[in-house]
Amino acid sequence: MDKISVVVPCWNEEEALPIYYKEMRRVMDKMSENAEKVSLDFELLFVDDGSTDGTLRVMKELHGKDARCKYFSFSRNFGKEAAIYAGLKASEGSFVAVMDVDLQDPPSLLPKMYDILKNEDYDSVATRRSTRKGEPKLRSFLSESFYKVINRISKTEIVSGARDYRLMNRKMADAVLKMSEYNRFSKGIFGWVGFRTKWLEFENVERSAGETKWSLKKLFCYSMEGITGFSVAPLSLASIVGVLFCALSFLLILAIVIRTLIWGDPVSGWPSLACIIFMVSGVQLLCTGIVGQYLSKTYLETKHRPIFILKDSSKEEESESV
Ligand code: UDP
Ligand code: MG
Repeated sequence: MDKISVVVPCWNEEEALPIYYKEMRRVMDKMSENAEKVSLDFELLFVDDGSTDGTLRVMKELHGKDARCKYFSFSRNFGKEAAIYAGLKASEGSFVAVMDVDLQDPPSLLPKMYDILKNEDYDSVATRRSTRKGEPKLRSFLSESFYKVINRISKTEIVSGARDYRLMNRKMADAVLKMSEYNRFSKGIFGWVGFRTKWLEFENVERSAGETKWSLKKLFCYSMEGITGFSVAPLSLASIVGVLFCALSFLLILAIVIRTLIWGDPVSGWPSLACIIFMVSGVQLLCTGIVGQYLSKTYLETKHRPIFILKDSSKEEESESV
């Protein structure tokens, strides 16, 4: 018997949840009907990432209606990455999917993904958007630039437009779980663990209900997470700029000595000197800042704080009622 665990991170999604469940039930029924040879079971792992609306209530209702729906509730908002980690940790299936609740990751793709893992030699099927239609221009531009930069400076391949929506086998899910770092960047983690991945493309879909949780500021922090997590190239920037500046100053000294020997040394040039001091100290601060970024990540990592804290879950409820 095969079991597919679907990890669904939710943050303030009380409107989107029922719509998601309805669609997912349709897909699950169809897949169970069509399953040949082996029977197919599902579990939907809803992770409430510290919602302030009725998300947890809706999850509990769904759990009451359908035992395949399980819920895990965080003590506060820990972020989507933490929610995915918690879901993966709780998953029991031989296949694990990660999916958004807003139907921007179409559940209708799941049968195809399962088919590929069953019949072809792949460990995971991932998805990417073929277009960024419906997204603000500035956001698309910034995202594209981020992927260009990170793929240049990181050895781990991070696919542009990749969504977190994917189905993987148990081996890969376990590998992802072994990466228990505090600063999590899933797109990098999935790439880093390796395994054979097939990419499916689909058109960008609008949200079913509610609104996006990603502000530009959140996206910026997320991209910093990606860069510091999967590349140390920025750290070499200080050395490179240092060498360049040394070379430049050597040439300048040479030029000034020659000029003084030929034309004497009238006192002038303090404005240019002031500019140079400003520039050099700016570069120094920038480099110190970059080192600071890495240091702060290391600092958080060495504290070994838990990635998430559970406040409530369907497991507790079940063990209480036994
Ligand atoms: N999400 C979450 N915690 C967060 C932010 C988002 O669990 O701090 C969930 C959210 O509920 C949704 C998914 O992550 O299921 C994707 O979020 P969203 O749709 O806002 O992102 P977008 O699709 O706009 O990139
Ligand atoms: Mg979305």
